[in-house]
Amino acid sequence: MQPAHPGCSSPSQSSPSQSPRWEVADILRLYGEAYQQTHYLSPTQQRVMQAIVECRTARLGGHAETCPQCGFERYAYNSCGNRHCPKCQSLTKAQWVADRRADLLPVPYSHAVSQRRPEMVLQWPG
Ligand SMILES: [Zn+2]
Repeated sequence: MQPAHPGCSSPSQSSPSQSPRWEVADILRLYGEAYQQTHYLSPTQQRVMQAIVECRTARLGGHAETCPQCGFERYAYNSCGNRHCPKCQSLTKAQWVADRRADLLPVPYSHAVSQRRPEMVLQWPG
């Protein structure tokens, strides 16, 4: 990934969001071990928990990122890439929301939910 340096204004780069005060990884670091002593976690759940705890820490190593516009370089820890990790999925989620917003027509939208009775479902043309 090539981040835009904060001093550079790239239209394709959004401004960095504020980090939350507490992250899931912080809670797992504090209480994960005690939780595992009283609750069974499958091997898969244990791997997810470990990935979240280690994500973007020195444990996973790091890499250099260079701004393509000004050459500003910074170092960042590697991500775990686990699909359950809230840090790794935040960028994916933000991209998905941006893509859906790009699909919207310039008209007002509303959302309605209705429920059909079972006898109405049987009459539905198939
Ligand atoms: Zn992660």
